[in-house]
Amino acid sequence: MKYVGAHVAASPGVAQAPVNAKEINAKAFALFTRNPSRWVSKPLTESDISTFKARCDEYGFSPAQILAHDGYLINLGQPDDYKLEQSREAFLDEFRRCEQLGISLLNFHPGSHLNAIPIDDCLDRIADSINITLEMTEGVTAVIENTAGQGSNLGHRFEQIAHIIDRVDDKSRVGVCIDTCHAFAAGYDLSTPEGYEATWREFDEIIGMKYLAGMHLNDTKKGLASHVDRHESLGNGVLGADCFRMIMNDPRIDNIPLILETINPDIWAEEIEWLYSIENK
Ligand SMILES: [Zn+2]
Ligand SMILES: [Zn+2]
Repeated sequence: MKYVGAHVAASPGVAQAPVNAKEINAKAFALFTRNPSRWVSKPLTESDISTFKARCDEYGFSPAQILAHDGYLINLGQPDDYKLEQSREAFLDEFRRCEQLGISLLNFHPGSHLNAIPIDDCLDRIADSINITLEMTEGVTAVIENTAGQGSNLGHRFEQIAHIIDRVDDKSRVGVCIDTCHAFAAGYDLSTPEGYEATWREFDEIIGMKYLAGMHLNDTKKGLASHVDRHESLGNGVLGADCFRMIMNDPRIDNIPLILETINPDIWAEEIEWLYSIENK
């Protein structure tokens, strides 16, 4: 079964997210559980938590259909020790919030070396950050998102993601989210049947299909291997409709959240409807 949805707004509070998801007929949703551009956020209240859970129950969103996304400031591979600590504290808070809300998947961008440390050292730092956080929490999986490889952001090569997972102690609580726009920008050609199959073959060989825990479904404004992260509405970009047709008909991608982060929220309901319409075609 395909769980298609979108990264919906969570204001005035997290409990609004399932309402927004239901409104667009989503079968999955992503959300920020705190302000993504701030280091510190107010704790969740009892009422935030109970209303969120009650609505998810009522609208049929199980934990397999919810993918939380962490904030933009966090860099788990931060070269500066003091700043790394700040990122790890914020990341732990992200995990704690998911624990409180009963969310089992937390998606994050791996981190950036900022041209200050070698790539492998940065990947080790990221894995250590994950280990520290997993040790202090329970029930939440750390879901590493592939990136476009813009600037010094890591995670654009499957090898880099495999390097991180390799160093994570509890492999039952680490997963991967593949963003179609980022993959294409990183050089994985998901636009053709041959490229699509080759990409997943490589993913399986280097990372392992069992780690696939979610996807971000985005078309892209920029070309193959451009390393530029610019999302586009489905079918309007260079990836094109075929990529999403292949995803919707790929049984390897069942039962995980498939989240739109496309640029026009006004058409999310239509995009979701279109995706379900091309299933089994
Ligand atoms: Zn994404
Ligand atoms: Zn992106």
